[in-house]
Amino acid sequence: MSIKIGLAGNPNCGKTTMFNDLTGSTQYVGNWPGVTVEKKGGKLKWNKEVEIVDLPGIYSLSPYTLEEVVTRDFMVNDKPDAIINIVDASNIERNLYLTTQVLELGIPTVVALNMMDIVKKNGDKINIEKLSQSLGCPVIETSAIKGQGIKKVVEKAIEISKESNINNFKLELSQEVENPINNIENILSRSDFNKTINSRWLSIKLFERDKNILEKNKFSKEILEKAENITKKCENEFDDDSESIITGERYDFIGKVISKTVRKNSKNDETTSDKIDKIVTNRFLALPIFALIMWGVYYIAVSSLGTIVTDWTNDTLFGDIISGNVSTWLEGLGVADWLQGLVVDGLIGGVGAVLGFVPQIMILFFLLSLLEDCGYMSRVAFIMDRIFRKFGLSGKSFIPMLISSGCGVPGIMATRTMENDRDRKMTIMLTTFIPCGAKVPIIALFAGAIFGGASWVAPSVYFLGIIMIIICGILLKKTKLFKGEPAPFVMELPQYHIPTLKSVLMHMWDRGKAFIIKAGTIIFVACGAIWFMQSFNWSLEMVDASESILASIGSVFAPIFAPLGFGNWQSAVATITGLVAKENVVATFGILFGIAEATEEDPTLIMNVAGMFTAVSAFAFIAFNMLCAPCFAAIGAIKREMGSWKWTWITLGFQTGTAYLVALLINQVGNALFYSGSVVGAVISIAIVLVIIIGILLSAKKETSMNGKVQLSYTK
Ligand code: GDP
Ligand code: MG
Repeated sequence: MSIKIGLAGNPNCGKTTMFNDLTGSTQYVGNWPGVTVEKKGGKLKWNKEVEIVDLPGIYSLSPYTLEEVVTRDFMVNDKPDAIINIVDASNIERNLYLTTQVLELGIPTVVALNMMDIVKKNGDKINIEKLSQSLGCPVIETSAIKGQGIKKVVEKAIEISKESNINNFKLELSQEVENPINNIENILSRSDFNKTINSRWLSIKLFERDKNILEKNKFSKEILEKAENITKKCENEFDDDSESIITGERYDFIGKVISKTVRKNSKNDETTSDKIDKIVTNRFLALPIFALIMWGVYYIAVSSLGTIVTDWTNDTLFGDIISGNVSTWLEGLGVADWLQGLVVDGLIGGVGAVLGFVPQIMILFFLLSLLEDCGYMSRVAFIMDRIFRKFGLSGKSFIPMLISSGCGVPGIMATRTMENDRDRKMTIMLTTFIPCGAKVPIIALFAGAIFGGASWVAPSVYFLGIIMIIICGILLKKTKLFKGEPAPFVMELPQYHIPTLKSVLMHMWDRGKAFIIKAGTIIFVACGAIWFMQSFNWSLEMVDASESILASIGSVFAPIFAPLGFGNWQSAVATITGLVAKENVVATFGILFGIAEATEEDPTLIMNVAGMFTAVSAFAFIAFNMLCAPCFAAIGAIKREMGSWKWTWITLGFQTGTAYLVALLINQVGNALFYSGSVVGAVISIAIVLVIIIGILLSAKKETSMNGKVQLSYTK
């Protein structure tokens, strides 16, 4: 008979680390909430009869976020045979809040007291036996990261899953609350209500008026009315709402447990983490430090170390060795010219151009994983909370954005952690402004081709993304669609620690493998198609690229981009193919300007692209491709998460419109400043942007003044 064990706990307590250890899988371990938004199952490594389910991290079982609902539904409906409740022992007080709720469910539960390595290092002491007594369940010390105690926890969970009636937990309530809960429980027990659910838990939920539970269980009108009367009476006594009363009771109970079991090392008030945090989250230093670090990351990945590797792969590996040899080989076989063209110019040229940038992407991901693993990125979310809050978004919105620096799809999915639907929609609209891995080759190609590898190019694109998020965030928040207070953002800041090479490499690979897989699938097919369209005309005769199908399509769209400085058909086509996957932008240039055709005088793809752009128009091109509608995969994710085509189109229109305006400004103003271009063009484009911004602000103001009266009557 198989056994199902659920892993439950707060975000960041080490669930996924433990899950990976138990099942031998490589799920994403991250140190911010929202990394595991769906439950994931796996078989225990040494006993395939046991199924382990990794649940999203939650602070409580009240259903305010999607993750809480997923976890609670699993526990209440799927009825696991046992639960391992992982508790971050270095934050035991906050963590036990969930524990009290889990224990109430009446499912056999073991508490895994994790992060004991940190507790010991801090010199704190926890009395395990007393803790186990107070909670009425087994408690086992673990350190998931070191693999200590994990086996013991599962063995215990398996053992108790077979015992019936093991649960001895009862949340001790003060008499004033105990009485009403008892009364509700009596009413339930007299009715023929579903006896399989723990009735004390159900009574507390009734007392709290838990919406989800009320909807799911068809209570009779009589029960509901009686419970409501009891609750109301108690609320009057406390002069507080019933949910807060229970919350207070839980913390009182936890306070008592803690005072009995935990002894803090009094000498050790300020940990190393606290000392580092004093500097990196300092009100004035935080942003400059963040800017410096990100500048360093993009500098190393895209401009310095990364370029060396990429130059070699692009020019030597794909340029000389691979296409040279394949060419000779195909010629030797005597295959048709068109087939040689397809293989050498189309597939090797296009896919090679993309693969050439993989080293840069990997180095970028390596560095980002390092920052994430050591705990710094969690601080960034905290720092951003201060800024985002000013215009009405919470720091929670920044987490999807951090994830989007790898790939927009998981970034968009990570918005599920947000309670407020408006903030969630707005975050989805903004999150792909952050350059994802697939956009890095575009930046790198131009940084090398046009800007001589200047170190400011790549970081500036990253910051352009953040600045646009802030500007658009401020503007969108003023409109009727997104108005509202930001939801509170609670986040445990993990202790800093030196990341293990294994976990950093695992993260890097986790993010990076998609690009190699994509290069061999989607990009490969796209390159074939692009090559075909640039080699043939509409009557399917082989022609020069300038008369091809591709050129004729590109020429239709090129005029739209002319004001942005890249009104040639090649750039138009590259931008359009970028909608399929952003790597295609580089692949298209690779095919059109052939790595394969590189000669002594004209050695690389880079030189040919360079001829078509000025520094200003190149930057406008990068900006447009960074900010415009993302790739199909991300558009699909937007559609799924938004749940409607209307919102999907609003998002794509908003993003592309923003991209157009930004690129227009860069090109027109840049030309006027650096190339003595037309001042009129610059003035007109500034005017257009200003008119749009003022338009948004005015219409927003009109709405508020109309609402003004209504709002007044609400103020106390
Ligand atoms: P989850 O959010 O509960 O799934 O937590 P994760 O498994 O993603 O871990 C969060 C962070 O805590 C990661 O940076 C882990 O490396 C770290 N971590 C997990 N377990 C331990 C532990 O026992 N000791 C220490 N020091 N760190 C841990
Ligand atoms: Mg996790």
